[in-house]
Amino acid sequence: MALKKIQDCVIIGSGPAGYSAAIYASRADLNPILFEGTQPGGQLTTTTSIDNYLGFPVGIDGINFMQNCKKQAERYNTKIINQSVINVCLSNKNRGIHHIFFEKKCINSRGVIIATGSNPKLLGIQKEKKLIGLGISFCATCDGFFHKDKDVAVVGGGDTALSDTNYLSKICKKVYLIVRKNYFKASKILQSYILKKKNVKILFCSQITKIIGNNFLEGIKIFNHEKKTNITILVNGLFIAIGHIPNTEIFKNQLDLDNKGYIIVKKGSTITNKPGVFAAGDVQDPNYRQAITSAGTGCMAALDLEKYLIS
Ligand SMILES: Cc1cc2nc3c(=O)[nH]c(=O)nc-3n(C[C@H](O)[C@H](O)[C@H](O)COP(=O)(O)OP(=O)(O)OC[C@H]3O[C@@H](n4cnc5c(N)ncnc54)[C@H](O)[C@@H]3O)c2cc1C
Repeated sequence: MALKKIQDCVIIGSGPAGYSAAIYASRADLNPILFEGTQPGGQLTTTTSIDNYLGFPVGIDGINFMQNCKKQAERYNTKIINQSVINVCLSNKNRGIHHIFFEKKCINSRGVIIATGSNPKLLGIQKEKKLIGLGISFCATCDGFFHKDKDVAVVGGGDTALSDTNYLSKICKKVYLIVRKNYFKASKILQSYILKKKNVKILFCSQITKIIGNNFLEGIKIFNHEKKTNITILVNGLFIAIGHIPNTEIFKNQLDLDNKGYIIVKKGSTITNKPGVFAAGDVQDPNYRQAITSAGTGCMAALDLEKYLIS
């Protein structure tokens, strides 16, 4: 692959944010180079059905969706490198050159778009990974509707778990909320909302010990570590809401990150604290974490970079 000495746009990540940035940047003649990382296509490749993305009236599976995104970026000549970026050296200077390291090589670029996403935290029990997308979910707004009028369970005691519980309580018959501690970490306002819900059963001091089902989730076993009792509940939907880990390890000490490790961007933009470096998608978004918001901020990052390069 013949490369220019100095690039205009390097994109790190191949989820919806990375590909959206690539499509906009390539159509603006920035000749982007995109690194796929260890999960080509990103988180959506682990789901069987996307039903909330605009423009797909009968939904689409995650792998096909992301393959379409890749084809669209390739149509405009985005160069795709099937490698992970192992290190970066980001310049502090306006119009400075950033260095992106992979394998034993380095690419120099005026602009960098970071779209490395995040990973949901797992419980770490057997069958959990196998049943992701087969009853186990990390996104109530994405998958809640599949469990309309059924019983489901949510794990977690923070804001996300309680927001998910609130959302699910409106569409599902019953929601079991499994909390490890004997209190919630979530905001008081969310707690007061949930405590009033008649179809939410809160199980404090509780932990899931076993996942039941081989091809699809059938139920869970829960241990109460205060009373030392076990119960089994039969649910086809389990929403794990114990947090996400943004993929920002290689940007530590180079970019401003918040206390959870998310990249901090200037409000209403994708601008980071380094000139010419932009962040899009879940890596800078602890709140929405949706494919469509990731694609939206990917577009913003390409436009922000284009503006930076001509200013
Ligand atoms: C099981 C599941 C189902 C979901 N279902 C839906 C749904 O139905 N609808 C919806 O809107 N959202 C859904 N989501 C959320 C959605 O997947 C995310 O919001 C979205 O994928 C975030 O996009 P992103 O581009 O920011 O990052 P990601 O999709 O997380 O992609 C990150 C990319 O960065 C790459 N990367 C990371 N580090 C490096 C590195 N060092 N070098 C190079 N590349 C790197 C990875 O390989 C990956 O390609 C779901 C999430 C999960 C886990």
